Amino acid sequence: MPTIVIAGASLAGAKAAETLREEGFDGQIVLLGAETERPYERPPLSKGYLLGNDERDSVYVHPAGWYAEHDVDLRLGVTVTGIDRATSAVVTADDSIVPYDRLLLATGASPRRLSFPGSDRDEVLYLRTTADSDRLRAAFQAGPRVAVAGAGWIGLETAAAARSYGCPVTVLEPQPGALHEQLGPELGATFADLHRSHDVQFRFGERAAEFRPGLVITSAGAEVPADLLVVGIGAAPNDQLAAAAGLEVENGVLTDEALRTADPSIFAAGDVANSYHPLLGRRVRVEHWANALNGGPAAARSMLGQPVVYDPVPYFYSDQYDLGMECAGLPTPGSYDEVAYRGDRAAGEFIAFWLAGHKVVAGMNVNVWDVNDDIQSLIRSARPVDLSRLANPDIPLPEV
Ligand SMILES: Cc1cc2nc3c(=O)[nH]c(=O)nc-3n(C[C@H](O)[C@H](O)[C@H](O)COP(=O)(O)OP(=O)(O)OC[C@H]3O[C@@H](n4cnc5c(N)ncnc54)[C@H](O)[C@@H]3O)c2cc1C
Repeated sequence: MPTIVIAGASLAGAKAAETLREEGFDGQIVLLGAETERPYERPPLSKGYLLGNDERDSVYVHPAGWYAEHDVDLRLGVTVTGIDRATSAVVTADDSIVPYDRLLLATGASPRRLSFPGSDRDEVLYLRTTADSDRLRAAFQAGPRVAVAGAGWIGLETAAAARSYGCPVTVLEPQPGALHEQLGPELGATFADLHRSHDVQFRFGERAAEFRPGLVITSAGAEVPADLLVVGIGAAPNDQLAAAAGLEVENGVLTDEALRTADPSIFAAGDVANSYHPLLGRRVRVEHWANALNGGPAAARSMLGQPVVYDPVPYFYSDQYDLGMECAGLPTPGSYDEVAYRGDRAAGEFIAFWLAGHKVVAGMNVNVWDVNDDIQSLIRSARPVDLSRLANPDIPLPEV
């Protein structure tokens, strides 16, 4: 009976296991996870769970009994340490050897870490796991002065959560604005203004350079009072296993559009995969929840030999204070030449579109709902649009 081994028991890995069973695979499935928790979703860790609104049980991908019920051999606290491609087996930290017919790498990403005087102190915290979120939640309850390194999504969501506990918050960001790489300057400023309206202080063009109890010293030599420093400066793919096994790795494990590596038995999905994306015409590594949710199942079908072309429009969502948004596409600086709006920006209910040559390359709906599929269709169509019609909320998006 064939065996499929999945390295990494989080969203991509768990969803791949689910799809294998749904598609009728009746061989062995071994799901190996370094964490001791069963697979869970990370977005609540910087939102509802961190805020104390969501119960622990709500973060799990499946109920506890699901794995046994579906004959998925879930082994937690097990780190894969090597891949022996010659014998088609993985080796784990306790020297077990687990043979595979197909192997899915779903090892995700790890937070980039800072290294400077004081960076190893207990008051310097990261946010990736439930334990990290528990630690932050407990710390915020005492109302400490919080410095956040990084004005990306994790940094800003953590800043919003810290404010909800009444903590004074200062965000340090070496880029000239918030979410600069993710959204560009125009929409980044919208988020910075939102945080300013909740009394968050920003120090752009500065990074954390030293932590002393009660103080962060910035690269500009400024002293920022802070009892805690939360670091949210991005994540790096956990692709070391693949590299050591001789697979091609470049900012993640390289795959084709069917999530196959150059080794026909090995596949990759989720945050760790840098996959050829037919719609974008290049490889892309997407660190978003939807990519793990859909990429795991796509890899499962690919491992079963089904024809797969994995080309979703990248999708991301965030909640901060009373702002909820969904973003489709990748509006990084340089990928667009114009930003257009529809709706009421002053009231915080609008859609922003990033355009290149009058074609929509990305769109973000802010406190406006049930439009993201239409935005994705506009991006996928890659046709020039009339800007006045795009800005007119009376014209439905499919008719723009
Ligand atoms: C706090 C936080 C908030 C987020 N919020 C959002 C959001 O609002 N919207 C959004 O779109 N995305 C969000 N994301 C991103 C989203 O959670 C990730 O894209 C998603 O978790 C990726 O899933 P994954 O299964 O690919 O990898 P991961 O979730 O990183 O899981 C990989 C798993 O593999 C394990 N592993 C690694 N190496 C090994 C090994 N050698 N052997 C065994 N196991 C191993 C790891 O321990 C981990 O459990 C957020 C992420 C974080 C951390």
